[in-house]
Amino acid sequence: MVEIKSDAALDVMREAGRVVAHALAAVREAAGIGVSLRELDEAARAVLDKAGARSPFLGYQPSFAPTPFPAVICTSVNDAVVHGVPTDYRLRDGDLVSVDCGAVLDGWAGDAAISFTVGTPRPADLDLIDATRRALDAGIAAAVPGNRVGDIGHAIGAVARAARCGMPADFGGHGIGRTMHEDPHVPNRGRPGRGFPLRHGLVLAIEPMLMAGGNDDYRTGEDGWTLHTTDGSRAAHIEHTVAITDAGPRILTLP
Ligand code: MG
Ligand code: MG
Repeated sequence: MVEIKSDAALDVMREAGRVVAHALAAVREAAGIGVSLRELDEAARAVLDKAGARSPFLGYQPSFAPTPFPAVICTSVNDAVVHGVPTDYRLRDGDLVSVDCGAVLDGWAGDAAISFTVGTPRPADLDLIDATRRALDAGIAAAVPGNRVGDIGHAIGAVARAARCGMPADFGGHGIGRTMHEDPHVPNRGRPGRGFPLRHGLVLAIEPMLMAGGNDDYRTGEDGWTLHTTDGSRAAHIEHTVAITDAGPRILTLP
């Protein structure tokens, strides 16, 4: 079922989104060569705690997962695409890191992700992050009343294709509201003019995940959570929670 939110609910979701943005900023600030993924999780946890927000990631166990998720962020490094579990791994020079974070504040959720490099970046990684950012921007630009969910995926897919990047077909964006994952599903490839109609008050998490190797295959790691590329190529993942409004897309997960 798809829930259309009131304007008052959108304003509360904006505050939840702001907490997510601040947590991601704290992670970005804490990240560096030699810093562990667990320490990044602690940085995000401190922001959520201070804001009085709950983590929708902590303890989350979807059907595919073997264990409840143990952290408030996902940390996906290099060939990891999404759902990476924070471990004692310490970041190295040249790593590409994607961090996904959620927060629930006053009963409403926000969800966003960033990708960045550590130390001296590989030029190809900067290109990949740039393409993922452009894919997200294109998806957000298509998130307007009168369009359909397929228009968002079509816009994202066009950017990914032009950048010769692959995308894991089974994973994409989603409706979001009182819980982190709601209908409708927002595929990262879509057919224009198809799917759920977009209207004022619909809120979607839009999240392109691009794989530099160009194929769409992925494998699940031994932890049962982390998605990896099958060719060892690197991946990037950037996400915003976006409200469709009559005044245009309203990004709820900005600082
Ligand atoms: Mg997310
Ligand atoms: Mg999401």
